[in-house]
Amino acid sequence: MSDKKSATIAVRTGITTDSQYQSVVPPIYLSTNYEFPEFGEVPTYDYARGGNPTRNLLETALCDLENGAGAVVTNCGMSAINLVLSLLGPDDLIVAPHDCYGGTYRLFDSRARKGAFKIAFVDQSDEAALASALAKNPKLVWIETPSNPLLRVVDVQAICQQAHAVGAWVGVDNTFLSPMLQKPLNLGADFVVHSTTKFINGHSDTVGGVVVAKDQDLADELKWWGNCIGATGNAFDSYMTLRGLRTLSARMRQHEENSAEVLAFLQGEPLVRIIYHPSLPEHPGHEIAKKQQSGFGGMLSFELEGNESELKLFLRSLKLFTLAESLGGVESLVTHPGSMTHRAMSDEAQAEAGIAATLLRLSIGLEDHNDLVADLKHAFDTVRESQ
Ligand SMILES: *Cc1c(COP(=O)(O)O)cnc(C)c1O
Repeated sequence: MSDKKSATIAVRTGITTDSQYQSVVPPIYLSTNYEFPEFGEVPTYDYARGGNPTRNLLETALCDLENGAGAVVTNCGMSAINLVLSLLGPDDLIVAPHDCYGGTYRLFDSRARKGAFKIAFVDQSDEAALASALAKNPKLVWIETPSNPLLRVVDVQAICQQAHAVGAWVGVDNTFLSPMLQKPLNLGADFVVHSTTKFINGHSDTVGGVVVAKDQDLADELKWWGNCIGATGNAFDSYMTLRGLRTLSARMRQHEENSAEVLAFLQGEPLVRIIYHPSLPEHPGHEIAKKQQSGFGGMLSFELEGNESELKLFLRSLKLFTLAESLGGVESLVTHPGSMTHRAMSDEAQAEAGIAATLLRLSIGLEDHNDLVADLKHAFDTVRESQ
């Protein structure tokens, strides 16, 4: 627990804690093993899979930022989600969003097929569908808000109340906003996970994840499982992620400022059929987003008005926006969810989740917004001239 503001926690965790040389920035501990002081005396750290001082600092920072009791830093976001699944058994039901991150969908679906637990994918913004899923007494309700790639927003507080009433835990994937813009544990959730690969590291050079638990018992159980199944993150990635985390507050502000400029441009562009972004008053989750988020973040999606060859021409014409998966880095990216991040979903599942053939997702980076808008404008103009 920290009484400091988020930006301060992110910047200061571990600073001036080196007792050996008083280095301002904490050193990285690469050692796999640690000396036992005496026969029968277990040191704070013994073996790096179970505990490592560098990873532990990152865990402290993320735990404090999410206001949790304990955290486990994992080797990627998927292993953070998988770690939460260690708490479930074959009779337990998970209620998950039908439009969750493609990798999450694949993990839940594949493990359920192997009998690890039961799964129900529902549209959580459909109150009747959610209520009938909760009537089956799930053990875990999974939330992703804003969702990927359509930025659907659900009311975390309301779902937590309903889930807790039937004895279910609530886990929230907070990757899209980071703890700077949304704190799900404060809204009632039991677990928060992040792919720290995205905004938290922020420089597209480290894959990592974290689970933060609200209760100490669950945090301890997750830590035990993290060591048992070998899900924990390594020292080098933890060091890099902690380094990236220090600028998270400033980066999120700029991501959001640039996104607002890009949005304003897209709203006036005739080749944009529909924009998905919670800051828009017509977005169905706008009011909830305003209530539970402290910002709108750096992600948006839109449908291009055109056919597949026009989509290809548009993507080829972009010079600054890089066609790549992932998100949340300093560099702007464009993703075609249907053929990239969400290709593991069947065509029917994509259609049901509202992922159209010309849907594009933008991760707005930290370049000058004038250059970003000029890049998009050039690509739209190129498509227009080809018509
Ligand atoms: C990327 C991502 C994940 C998976 O994280 P990895 O670090 O790629 O394993 C999970 N959830 C969301 C929302 C993501 O964007």
